[in-house]
Amino acid sequence: MESFDAVVVGAGPAGSTAAHLLAREGVSVLLVDRAVFPRDKPCGGGLTGRAARLLPCSVDAVVEDRIEVAEVRLRYRSSFQRRARAPLALMTQRRRLDAFLVDRAAAAGADVRDGVKVSDVREDALVVGGREIATRALIVADGANGPTGRAVGLGGDVVHGVALEGNAPYPNERYRSRMVLEFAIVPGGYGWVFPKGDHVNVGVGGWQSEGPQLRAHLARLCTEHGIDEATVTEVRGHRLPMRRSENRIARGQVALVGDAAGLVDPFSGDGMYEALASARFAAAAVQELLAGRVADLGGYAAAVGRTLVPLTAAGWGAKLAMDRFPRATFACVRLPVTWRVVEKLLLGELGHPGAARGADRAAVRLIEALARRASAEPAA
Ligand SMILES: Cc1cc2nc3c(=O)[nH]c(=O)nc-3n(C[C@H](O)[C@H](O)[C@H](O)COP(=O)(O)OP(=O)(O)OC[C@H]3O[C@@H](n4cnc5c(N)ncnc54)[C@H](O)[C@@H]3O)c2cc1C
Repeated sequence: MESFDAVVVGAGPAGSTAAHLLAREGVSVLLVDRAVFPRDKPCGGGLTGRAARLLPCSVDAVVEDRIEVAEVRLRYRSSFQRRARAPLALMTQRRRLDAFLVDRAAAAGADVRDGVKVSDVREDALVVGGREIATRALIVADGANGPTGRAVGLGGDVVHGVALEGNAPYPNERYRSRMVLEFAIVPGGYGWVFPKGDHVNVGVGGWQSEGPQLRAHLARLCTEHGIDEATVTEVRGHRLPMRRSENRIARGQVALVGDAAGLVDPFSGDGMYEALASARFAAAAVQELLAGRVADLGGYAAAVGRTLVPLTAAGWGAKLAMDRFPRATFACVRLPVTWRVVEKLLLGELGHPGAARGADRAAVRLIEALARRASAEPAA
C-alpha cells in the first residue's frame, strides 16, 4: 500500500498552505482535491493584510489590485472613507489564487492529485482515486460542504451564513483600489464592491435565512452603485461556516482546518486568514507528531483556541451589535480611534480586539458594550 507522512484532503488556501509548509520541511505529503484545478470558489477574493502575512509564498503574480481606501457605508446613505497606511487587502480571483498556491505546494515537493475521488476515510488510511493510501497524519481542508470531517467524527456545532457574488464591468474609475462595504442592507451581514483587474466583484452575505432574498439584495446593491444588473456574470453563492462553540477540530492524528473546521469570521465573513492561520498551526502540530514529540494533534486545537477563538468571539459580538444597533455601531466604527483598531486588525498588527491597549482599548469597549446590549435585548 502507498503511504505518506501526511495526507491533506482539499486544496483550497488552507489545504495547499498546509501541504506546502510540510513539504518544505521534507515531510512526504499528498494533497488531494476532487476538483480539477484551476477551479473556482465563490469568494470576494480579498486577502486581508493579516491573511497575506501568513501566505507560504508571494502571490504577487495573481494580485490584481491593492486596497488603499476603505469606504464604509450605512444603508446606502451615510458613509465615510479612510485612506490606509498600508494596503488593507490584496485583491485576487480565487480561480487564479488557488491554482497558484497548489502549483507552489507542488514545487515545494507535495504530491498533488486533483480531480480524484476520496472515500473510506479513516484516521490512518483513505482511498484516493480507488487506491488505498496509509498516512501518519490527516489534515481535513475540504471546505464548508466537505464530508470528511463528519466521516471521522469531528466538527459540528457550526452556524451557517450564506453569501452571493458576481463580477461586473467597472461602473467608473472611482472603484479602483477601493473597498466599498455597505452595512445594514442584509440581516446578519453586508454588501461589498471589490476592485479587480478589469472588473469589480459585487456581493452580499448574511444569515442563512436570508438565502432566498440574496438575489434581490444583490440587485439593489448594483443599482445603488451604478452597475447594470444585467451585466453581472458568474453569479454564485456558497455557505459561510461559523463556529459557535469550541467544537472538536482535532483528535488523534486528524485535524480540521479552514472552512472544514467552521473558522469563518462571523462579522466579516472572511475565512482566508483563518484558513491560512489554521493551516500553519496544523502543519506545526503534524511535524511535532511525526517527530514523536507529542502523541496527538491536540496542540493544534489549543493553538486555534488561543489565537482564533478570541477573534471569533469578538466577531460574534460585532455582528450582533451591527444587526441590532446599526446606526450606533456605524457611528462607533466611524470614530478615528475605532477605525485605527479596525485598521490594525486588518493589517495583522493586532491579534484580536481584546488585545487592544490604551485609547484603542476604550474604542473596543464601546463596541463590546453595544454587543452586550444586543445579546441582552434581541430584536423584537
Ligand atoms: C461569497 C463569498 C465571499 C467570500 N469572500 C471572502 C473574501 O473576500 N475574503 C476572505 O478571506 N474570505 C472570503 N470568503 C470565505 C472564503 O472563501 C473561505 O473561508 C475560504 O475559501 C476557506 O478556504 P478553505 O481552504 O478552508 O476551503 P475552500 O477554499 O472551500 O477549499 C476546499 C477544497 O476542498 C475540496 N473538496 C471538497 N470536498 C472534497 C472531497 N470530498 N474530497 C476532496 N476534496 C474536496 C474543494 O474542491 C475545494 O478545492 C467568502 C466566502 C463566500 C461564500
